[in-house]
Amino acid sequence: MPVTMPSDPLNLYDLGPAALDAALAPVVSPLFRVKQIREWMHVRGVDSFDAMTNVPKELRAQLAQRFTLAFPQVVEVTEPANDGSRKVLSTLGDGSRIESVYMPMGERTSICLSSQAGCAVGCTFCVTGFFGAGRNLTPSEMLGQFFTIQHEHQVPSELLNVVFMGMGEPLLNFDHLMTTLDTLYPTIAPKRITVSTSGIIPGIEALAAYDRRPNLAISINAPDRKRREEIMPITTKYPLDELMAVLKRYPADKHREITIEYVLLAGFNDAPSDAVALARLIRGLDAKVNAIPFNADPNLPSWMKRPADAAIDRFVDTLVHSGVGVTVRRSKGRDIAAACGQLRGKEIATGRAARRGA
Ligand code: SAH
Ligand code: SF4
Repeated sequence: MPVTMPSDPLNLYDLGPAALDAALAPVVSPLFRVKQIREWMHVRGVDSFDAMTNVPKELRAQLAQRFTLAFPQVVEVTEPANDGSRKVLSTLGDGSRIESVYMPMGERTSICLSSQAGCAVGCTFCVTGFFGAGRNLTPSEMLGQFFTIQHEHQVPSELLNVVFMGMGEPLLNFDHLMTTLDTLYPTIAPKRITVSTSGIIPGIEALAAYDRRPNLAISINAPDRKRREEIMPITTKYPLDELMAVLKRYPADKHREITIEYVLLAGFNDAPSDAVALARLIRGLDAKVNAIPFNADPNLPSWMKRPADAAIDRFVDTLVHSGVGVTVRRSKGRDIAAACGQLRGKEIATGRAARRGA
C-alpha cells in the first residue's frame, strides 16, 4: 500500500515565514492578504483554510486545492493526572504515533512537544530510546502538536512555555526545529522555549551561532564519563569533556541559565559524592540542575529504580551546599506516565503484546 507522505500536498506549516510568503505570492494578492493568512496560521494556528473568515471564499478554495494545513490527528487524550497534566497521543500521515503533554504549572502552562517519532540515541533509561529510531517530524507535525493543545485549553500565548522534551532528539532534526522556532517566535519569545538535548555537539554549536537562541537543557544524567557511557551510549560519539567545553563556550544570554537535567537512579548516581562530582563537572557554567527522579517502566532494565525521597533530598541538599541551584521534578504526571521525556510506553507496548498474541 502506498505510504501517504505528510508533505503531499504541500503543508504550509512546513514553510518558515519567508518561504511561506514566497509560496503564497503567485496565488495571493494584494500583500495584505498574505499577512492575513500568515496571521491565521502563526497567531491563531488554524488547521483549515475555511477558518480564515476574512479571506474571500474563492481564494480559500484555491488555496485548499494547492495546499494543506493539516495537523497530526489526535487519537487519545488521557484523563488529567493529579497535577492536571494530560498526555495527547496523535497519529501522523504515515501512521507513526507521537505524544505531547499539556502541563499546567500555576499561572503558566508548559506544552511538551515531540521532535521525532522515536529516538536513535538509545539511552538505556528511556522508553522512547527502548523502542528505537523514528523519523524526523516535520515543522507542521511539531506546530500541530502545539496549536492543538493551545486551542483545546485556550491558553493565552503570553502564559505559555514550550519545551522540546518529548519523543526524540531535537538537535538531530535541526532544520525542521529551526523552521518550527521561526514560526513560533512571533507569539512565543525565545526565552519561553527550551530545547532539551542528549548532547549532540554539532547541534549545540549550530544553536550557539543562531541569534534567536531558545533556552538550552542538557541531559547530563551522570557525574562522570564512565557512568554516562553506561546509560547514554552517545557519550562515546560526543565525549563528556568535549561536551562540557562546548557548553562553557556557549554564549551566555542575560538572565538565562543552561539547564542540566539529571535523571536520578537509585544506587547508580544519587549518592552525595555524586552530587559533589556533578557540581564540580558544571563549575564555571551559568547553569542550574533539574533533578528528575527516574520513572520506572516494564520495558526498562529492572535494576533501574527511583531513589527513595530521603536520598533525593540528600542529593539535592548536597548540590545546594556546593553552590548549585536545583529544581526537582517530583511528580509531574507520574501516575499517567505522561512525564515529558518518557513517552510512548503503554500504547506501543500494548500494540506489540497484542500482535505477539495474535
Ligand atoms: N532527547 C532529548 C529530549 C527528550 S528526553 C534529551 O535526551 O534531552 C527529555 C528528558 O527526559 C531527558 O532529560 C531524559 O534524561 C529524561 N528521561 C528520559 N527517560 C526518563 C525516565 N525513565 N525517567 C526520568 N527521566 C527520563
Ligand atoms: Fe532519545 Fe532523549 Fe530518550 Fe535519550 S533520553 S533515548 S536522547 S529521547
